[in-house]
Amino acid sequence: MKFIETRGNDGVSPKSVSFSEAILGPMSSFGGIYSPESLPKLGHDFLAEHLDKDYQTLARSILTAFEIDIKDTVIDDALALYEQFDDATNPAPLVKVKDDLYVSELWHGPTRAFKDMALQPFGKVLSSLAQDRNEEYLIMAATSGDTGPAALDTFKNRENVRVVCLYPDGGTSDVQRLQMVTESAANLKVIGIHGDFDDAQSALKNLLGSDTFNAKLKEKNISLSAANSVNFGRIIFQLMYHIHSYLELVRQDAISLGDKIYLDVPSGNFGNALGGYYAMKMGLPVEKILIASNRNNVLTDFINKGVYDISNASVIATTSPAMDILKSSNVERILFDLFGTERTKELMQALDNEKKYTLTQSELEQIQQVFMADYCTDDEGKEYIQSAFNQGYLMDPHTATCFKAYDSCRDKPLKTIVYSTAEWTKFSPTIANALTGETDSSDIDALQKIAEKANIEIPDSISDLFRKEITQNSVIDKANIETEILAFLEAKS
Ligand SMILES: *Cc1c(COP(=O)(O)O)cnc(C)c1O
Repeated sequence: MKFIETRGNDGVSPKSVSFSEAILGPMSSFGGIYSPESLPKLGHDFLAEHLDKDYQTLARSILTAFEIDIKDTVIDDALALYEQFDDATNPAPLVKVKDDLYVSELWHGPTRAFKDMALQPFGKVLSSLAQDRNEEYLIMAATSGDTGPAALDTFKNRENVRVVCLYPDGGTSDVQRLQMVTESAANLKVIGIHGDFDDAQSALKNLLGSDTFNAKLKEKNISLSAANSVNFGRIIFQLMYHIHSYLELVRQDAISLGDKIYLDVPSGNFGNALGGYYAMKMGLPVEKILIASNRNNVLTDFINKGVYDISNASVIATTSPAMDILKSSNVERILFDLFGTERTKELMQALDNEKKYTLTQSELEQIQQVFMADYCTDDEGKEYIQSAFNQGYLMDPHTATCFKAYDSCRDKPLKTIVYSTAEWTKFSPTIANALTGETDSSDIDALQKIAEKANIEIPDSISDLFRKEITQNSVIDKANIETEILAFLEAKS
């Protein structure tokens, strides 16, 4: 399968690339990204065949359907990493919370957030490619708190790969920050920046596209890649759990094969939702995908009104910080898939220049055939956390935004899968506040309060963080990122 450019071709870059090329160098002409030229169809028979298969077998079949140019042995090793999740045979358990609401828990991996679902196998695939080609890569990740720990975990001590991770200082939870700043492997560098996640992400995009930075890296024989979900290598590992969760619903006798369901996704950069969109296009019986946001509700307006407008918006800090995002990178792949390269280029350039674009009525209708959207305030989220807890389900504030969309969006009584993207341990002060009313707990106090209240244990991987040495101390201005990175590469080589 070939991957093509969302904004068309500039006459210099290749018009299409293989999967491995798309993941080693995810940026394409005019600032676009790579998307699959077509999608395999996985019809009723495919689903039926995989009803009694485990996650790794399903994943392997999907990768085979995409005809990716990755060796079978590498794929096997990459998928075997799911065995380190809490349940070695099922990395993403589906939990019934109400009659028609099921939660797909995507956070049972090493860093306790859903980023592990894709980054664990992706890290293995990327470093194997780098070794095979005898090339050195610098992986840059901008993180609002979960991508960073997951990227550092998957790449630590892997050959031919170095990682630089940019996070907004003060924009993450203590646990998230500690997961990053206590990583000590020599191939990892963590940099806090003064600014928010969008600042970190634009700094990263600028560096990826900068000729001078790329030239300096070339002198050192290092190529640049990205671990954010602009990289299709992450998206491919995110379609699978949507298909898996559907099959789980069938296995739990909640639906019959072929019944339509709602997918309800807490959205930031839109990678998770895009995975659901591709799964639907590939044949998964989905009625609509509900896009849940927090007060940074750009996506809600986009889907309900057809206007993507960040001209007057600035990021609002919420209790679901992984969704404190205005520019959702993967919306571009939806535009491309529905409206083609010319229109995508036009809209994305309008977003860059005027900070706004507007869909035509018929374009909006096409979007609304697939998506519905709503947003959830912090106070509403807190109430959802409380009421779910009273019904016996403990969830994090990102997951809570989906409960609002579940209440407000659906117009058919169909079963709904809510995607839970983080364990309670990663956002404990907010949850402790929802459960006990007490404010201002530090993460460690909050963890203890919740553990007591819910009668559960704090996982060792989390409590150990508070005893580990802090090895990554850089917190700098945006302007100094390039210098800081070059110094790290110098020190390492
Ligand atoms: C990354 C993240 C999200 C947003 O996912 P996208 O794929 O970027 O839309 C939501 N919740 C949590 C906890 C996350 O870490």
